[in-house]
Amino acid sequence: MSELAIGVDIGGGSVKAGLFDKEGKEKKESKQPIPSPLNEDSFIDTVKAAILPLLGDPNIKGIGIGSPGPIDADKGILISSANMPSLKNIPLKEKIESFSSLPVYYNNDANCAALGESIFGSQSHTDSQLILTLGTGIGGGFVERKKLFSGFQGNGVEIGHTTVVIDGAVCGCGGRGCVESYFSTRGFLGRYSEKTGVSLKNAEEFFQKVSSNDANAKEILDFGIICLAEAVRGAIHILNPESIVFVGGITASWNLYGERLSKEIRKRIFPVLNERLKIEVGKNFAGSLGAACLVFSNLGGQK
Ligand SMILES: [Zn+2]
Repeated sequence: MSELAIGVDIGGGSVKAGLFDKEGKEKKESKQPIPSPLNEDSFIDTVKAAILPLLGDPNIKGIGIGSPGPIDADKGILISSANMPSLKNIPLKEKIESFSSLPVYYNNDANCAALGESIFGSQSHTDSQLILTLGTGIGGGFVERKKLFSGFQGNGVEIGHTTVVIDGAVCGCGGRGCVESYFSTRGFLGRYSEKTGVSLKNAEEFFQKVSSNDANAKEILDFGIICLAEAVRGAIHILNPESIVFVGGITASWNLYGERLSKEIRKRIFPVLNERLKIEVGKNFAGSLGAACLVFSNLGGQK
């Protein structure tokens, strides 16, 4: 019998869980809304309720959990969450292990997405992958020979918060000039409203403006592409991945910027790296599959 794993994806609006086999096939799924009022007890109860219908098979080897950070991956603690400010220092691993009697692995959602992509994505054959999630902000994960590099307590590879404009636009992290202030949903909408006074609702609206030749939106995207290329350049020179894979909601508009972004990255890196670097769009697997990969990568001998 194939080994199975439960993956749990904690988002701002819901907790989604799935039961997966080692080929990444989902056998069962479950979803619970984030409760209101939200406190430690109601939150833990919701995570348990999402997991409960998936339990019972003796081939389940563990539970992987992914959530936005900051977290303490070693101790399995959700330190805080921008989307759920009433939660502080939640001992997720301990609570879910005692509830399920299964080993629990916890990491931030960008790292889970990176691991999922590195195991099941089109670049899974490459030695190392740098995976960037382009969405509300920019998340990053680096996987080398199937092993996730996650930094101290799981908070490494925060490429979204590397500086591209010294003393530039204020970022959600409190710093200035981070790349996600120039290339992400939050960044595009922020720069657009700064420039025009118009508040756009979402990334789709922004990219519609780009498609309809709105000069401001095009200028913001053009500068964003340069900013992201510079941030990726820095990351390539530090990590030297064999492939770069972009995932996340904004990759839906890859046709509007992907080619230029790839060109700008290639223009900036050491020529010797350019010859073998692969740049592509990922498959955007479910967050719950990425979380389940925390279990598979700890079993060893995975695909
Ligand atoms: Zn930042």
